[in-house]
This record gives sequence, C-alpha cells and structure tokens, in this order.
Amino acid sequence: MRLANKTALITGGNSGIGLATAKLFVAEGAKVVITGRNKETLAAAARELGPNALAVVADATDVAALEAAVGQGADKFGKYDIVFANAGIPGQTPVGGTTLSAFENVIRTNLTGVFFTVQAAAPYLNDGASIILNGSVISVLGNPGYSAYAASKAGVRAMARVIASELSPRGIRVNVVAPGAVRTPIWGAAIATPEAEKMLEARIAKSTPLGRLGEPDHISKTVLFLASDDSAHLQGQELFVDGGATASP
Ligand code: NDP
Repeated sequence: MRLANKTALITGGNSGIGLATAKLFVAEGAKVVITGRNKETLAAAARELGPNALAVVADATDVAALEAAVGQGADKFGKYDIVFANAGIPGQTPVGGTTLSAFENVIRTNLTGVFFTVQAAAPYLNDGASIILNGSVISVLGNPGYSAYAASKAGVRAMARVIASELSPRGIRVNVVAPGAVRTPIWGAAIATPEAEKMLEARIAKSTPLGRLGEPDHISKTVLFLASDDSAHLQGQELFVDGGATASP
C-alpha cells in the first residue's frame, strides 16, 4: 500500500490513462477524486472504483467548476497529497486547416486547464504533496498536424518547472509524465475497429524501438512512482514513457 492515507485528485479520471491511474491509486490505498465532463462515464468509473472514490463533473476549461470540484473532494476526503492534471484532448490538423477556435480549444484544455487545475488545488494541498502533469512525446517530436497539441504539451513542461520552483518551499513536487502513443479512447477512429487498431499498432511499432503501442498501465505505474515517496528528490522533471520513441533518431 504505497498510497495509504493519501488523497488524490485526477482530472480526466473517467477514461484511458486517468482511469487506469485511479484504479491503481485505489488499489494502493488512496482515496481519489476524479473529474471529467461526461456524467455517465464518471458514474461508471465511480462504481468501478468503489467507496474510496468520488466523481465530480467539472470541465477543465471552467475555473469555477474546477474550484468547486476540488473543494467538494477535499470536504469528503480531506486535503490532497497528489494531483494528476491529466485531462486533455487531441488535435490534428495541418497548419493551413487549423481554425482559431480549434487551436484555442486545444490550448484551453491541455494547457490553460492544467494551470487552473493546479491553481484550484493549491490551497487544498498538504505540504509535501506531489503534482504530476500529463505531457506528451509530441512536444518534442514535431509530428505533422500537431501544432496546437505540441505547443500545449511543451507549455506544460515549461510551466512545471516554474510551479516546481514556486511550490518547493512547501516541499511540493511538480513533475511531468510524457507518454508516447498509448491505447486509449483518445485515438478515436484509429482504434474504432480491430482492423484500424492493427494498422495503428503496426504504424506505432515502426517508430518505437520497443516495437509496440503503450498501454495505460505503462503510464499509471510511472505516475504512481512520481506520486509516491520513491521519487522524493525528483523535482521539475519530465519522464518520457514512450518505448524509446524519443530516444531513437
Ligand atoms: P482519453 O480520451 O481516454 O481521456 C481523456 C480524458 O480527459 C477523459 O477522461 C476526458 O473526460 C478528459 N477531458 C477532456 N477534455 C476535458 C475537459 N475539457 N474537462 C475535463 N475533462 C476533460 O485519453 P487519454 O487517457 O489517452 O488522455 C489522457 C492524457 O494523456 C491527455 O492529456 C493526453 O493528451 C495525454 N496523452 C495521451 C497519449 C495517448 O496516446 N493516449 C499520448 C500522450 C499524451 P470527458 O470526456 O468526460 O471530459
């Protein structure tokens, strides 16, 4: 039980990497507050997670909703020891085909939403807490079509260092987990059928030294490491969990 008596906030805790992390945290003894926009999937996740979980509808782009959710979670389970700012959306359009609203939507969710999640949680954090932000290999790879997404995730890395230095006096750590391609609903049509999923797997395998698509638990286990005292001296860093995708030329 590496997280006994700990309380965690996980945005986007009703799907993919966030849900896998919520399950692992509960199994490790934590109480978890999960947020997202979708009431039904949040309720289903809460049922699956059991009595040590609270699901609250909160759009990460709505500061008042974030503040309310964070407060509600703290009322039920006490102050937070862990925040996983994980909620995010994809965005893949070439420069010429990107509208202002599509660009802003990605930045607002993946960057602004992460910042205001941390801001909303800050008054409710125990000293010594661990904040983990979800980044992406796309922030360094330059894949075509990802201008807004890459910018949002590079912003997350830069922001983590600033917040780390601001919160260090309270012993609060801030680090980034940067996944490579992971099998989650974020891939939409690319995993909608078994054939499409096989094609995606083959494509990712080619550009990944370990030759496979990542699984949510590859990321959740790294988030557990960053959340626990095992990473007690890790501050302002980014861990790429990508099967070697950023390590190969
Ligand atoms: P999912 O689509 O499975 O999960 C995304 C989560 O974010 C959902 O729980 C969703 O909940 C939530 N979310 C999205 N927008 C908002 C919003 N405005 N307000 C609140 N919640 C929101 O994808 P993943 O698990 O893959 O994604 C999790 C994170 O991992 C993202 O930040 C993503 O960028 C990052 N990542 C994923 C990779 C991958 O290949 N899967 C690779 C690199 C990074 P709801 O729909 O209910 O709002």
